[in-house]
Amino acid sequence: MRPDDLLAALARIVPPARLLTRPSALSAYESDGVTAYRARPRAVVLAETAEEVVATVRACHAAGVPFMARGSGTSLSGGAVPIEDGIVIALSRMNRILSLDPQARIAVVEPGVVNLAVSAAAAPHGLYYAPDPSSQSICTIGGNVAFNSGGAHCFRHGMTANHVLGLKVVLADGTLATLGGPSLEQVGPDLTALFCGSEGLFGVVLEITLRLVQRPAVYRTVLAAYDQLQRAGDAVSRIIDSGLLPGAMEIMDRLAMDAAEAAVHAGYPTDAAAVLIVECEGEEAQVAAEFSRLTTILDASGPTHLHVAATDEERARIWKGRKSAFSAVGRLSPDFIVQDGVVPRTRLGEALVAIEALSRDHGLRVANVFHAGDGNLHPLILYDGRQSGAFARAEALAADILRLCIRLGGSITGEHGVGLEKRAFLGEMYGEADMAAMRRLRDAMDPRGLSNPGKKLAPLGASHPASHGMHPLERAGVISRA
Ligand SMILES: Cc1cc2nc3c(=O)[nH]c(=O)nc-3n(C[C@H](O)[C@H](O)[C@H](O)COP(=O)(O)OP(=O)(O)OC[C@H]3O[C@@H](n4cnc5c(N)ncnc54)[C@H](O)[C@@H]3O)c2cc1C
Repeated sequence: MRPDDLLAALARIVPPARLLTRPSALSAYESDGVTAYRARPRAVVLAETAEEVVATVRACHAAGVPFMARGSGTSLSGGAVPIEDGIVIALSRMNRILSLDPQARIAVVEPGVVNLAVSAAAAPHGLYYAPDPSSQSICTIGGNVAFNSGGAHCFRHGMTANHVLGLKVVLADGTLATLGGPSLEQVGPDLTALFCGSEGLFGVVLEITLRLVQRPAVYRTVLAAYDQLQRAGDAVSRIIDSGLLPGAMEIMDRLAMDAAEAAVHAGYPTDAAAVLIVECEGEEAQVAAEFSRLTTILDASGPTHLHVAATDEERARIWKGRKSAFSAVGRLSPDFIVQDGVVPRTRLGEALVAIEALSRDHGLRVANVFHAGDGNLHPLILYDGRQSGAFARAEALAADILRLCIRLGGSITGEHGVGLEKRAFLGEMYGEADMAAMRRLRDAMDPRGLSNPGKKLAPLGASHPASHGMHPLERAGVISRA
């Protein structure tokens, strides 16, 4: 099939109302959460069934036109930016929970099911779906799989990959494959886990078998306030050293607290430099014992203030502030970049001090709100896009923070993926042989490079696409990418 014939082929797969081609209809799909990156697709297919997705992928393959799956478009790394003139396969209408077996504790879902909807469906059985991205009320399970997403409670329970038992997928050439299944015991290499975090480069996920876990009998939540951000980071290291495994450990600095207060009045202390939220969960006796050890450790970590949530409402308010902090930062600054990096948990305090110094050096405010238990940092770099050069300066600071994570032995992504935004840094984190192995894997799964090309792995020989600007040594003429 010639590329020009593709639209006619797609029109035979879905009715006209579900094949978007007009510029006004396409504009809503031009970017994801990182609106600085935009591309105009050739068309958007609003798929309602797995058969339509498979037929669309086969048509794209026959025409040699690239395609990309899209969930809710909440990616924060440019992962869901369309391929210029390619096809977007929008999956949000494939939002059925196909089955839920409380005895086996599994749910089989379509990719467009919203994360929180799985827990809502499991709740009457005393079960829930553990990975809880802060975007859980809108992001889809398909997007979670593609990014191996995490959340506040993934510290204890593990990321998405730990909760996906099986997948039905369509590979880039239209082949259907079933990976894993409902059983916890699988044969051979763990291809399901390989697909998790593959950022749409291996094909489109059509169906997902999820593990459900028992809802804890009790939660106990404490908020510790500190006069220095580093003290909050060091408290996390102490808790981990003690062997305790709380359900969640989250840090917010002053700026993030101010934003959350303005948005939802969470009741955070007004005089602290940072707060650490720690939550224990499980059976009553076990939580009582763990919580008592936890408060002893926190007492010794030099807090200015310790507050234990006395009621469910108080606990909910603490979490509401934390979960709304990202979007609330918009109240502090007209524009911001959310960065996502990881450092070893033992180096958290050190990393926070270094980020404060970088923020001063670049003359830009940084708000910190993050999953501290995982060593996962989410610095929010505040800038005013109306000022000339401000975006470039914010990106330069973001790049320095990523390099700091690599230098401290961490990673350039904790949960938001590499996407377009961070692909320039992958080669700084991995050696040439590692990069070559990743490319071989991609080539084996998608020899023609049609599934979400350009994300995560930059095309060989491509000019540097990320808008992070030049490395300071490049600017100084010391090193060059050529
Ligand atoms: C306010 C806010 C808070 C956030 N908090 C968190 C957080 O705490 N933790 C976290 O991990 N992330 C967080 N995110 C990022 C984002 O929500 C997650 O990465 C989420 O998993 C993306 O899901 P989505 O449905 O929006 O996917 P999209 O943005 O639509 O797509 C993301 C990627 O997945 C691919 N994809 C989507 N569906 C499929 C499929 N069926 N098959 C193959 N590939 C597919 C796309 O091609 C793209 O590469 C946050 C985002 C926002 C805006």
